[in-house]
Amino acid sequence: FGWGQPIDLAAVDAALAEDATISHVGLVHHETSTGMLNPLAELGEIVARHDRSLIVDAISTLGAEPLDVVADHVDWCVGTANKCLEGLPGTSFVCAPRSSLDGLSEVRPRTYYLDLRAHHVAQDRDRAPLFTPAVQALYALDVALDLTLEETVAVRSRRYRERADRVRAHLARHGFEPLVPDGHRASSVTVFRLPDGVEYQHLHDRLKADGFVIYGCPPRLGR
Ligand SMILES: *Cc1c(COP(=O)(O)O)cnc(C)c1O
Repeated sequence: FGWGQPIDLAAVDAALAEDATISHVGLVHHETSTGMLNPLAELGEIVARHDRSLIVDAISTLGAEPLDVVADHVDWCVGTANKCLEGLPGTSFVCAPRSSLDGLSEVRPRTYYLDLRAHHVAQDRDRAPLFTPAVQALYALDVALDLTLEETVAVRSRRYRERADRVRAHLARHGFEPLVPDGHRASSVTVFRLPDGVEYQHLHDRLKADGFVIYGCPPRLGR
């Protein structure tokens, strides 16, 4: 649908009705490059109604936005430790129903190292990782999950959103226009267009001097 354009759910519904060969739908829950939060619950309902399988990249939403793999009909949910779970990089994980994982036995592995079926079998049957585990990253994830559970996703989401609201209100007063329409923005990331006459490097360096870090999106998004 294009960068920063909300998903047209009716178009997805129509495409699935029209083409029986579509077996899976893939969704990036939060498009981190644009700050757009996609409507997982609504899409999940459509995909389930058409009896297809839903794969969700929830990497930058886990911990920050509501997500329920059962209620939202997510078959494959992919996450990492290092975004809104606030852990260290080094661990990623996939959540899927046991029946889907067992179904992987019919899929020929495409890579040796990232063979999900082999990882699942090793961890499930042998109670051990397939390769040398990054033990320090797993311990860090365990602590990060404890802290997430302690804070709760609802409170963390509100914490992010309150800060985002402050930044958004302040930048709006200075003529910065958000890329993504209101109502479609995630709580963790906001992308703004540079107003005329403001140079990115200058803005970055001035903010950095005051202890704030921003990063630039691909230039095509700013236009
Ligand atoms: C960061 C990110 C990735 C990549 O995850 P890494 O942990 O950086 O490898 C994939 N998808 C989304 C939506 C992300 O935000």
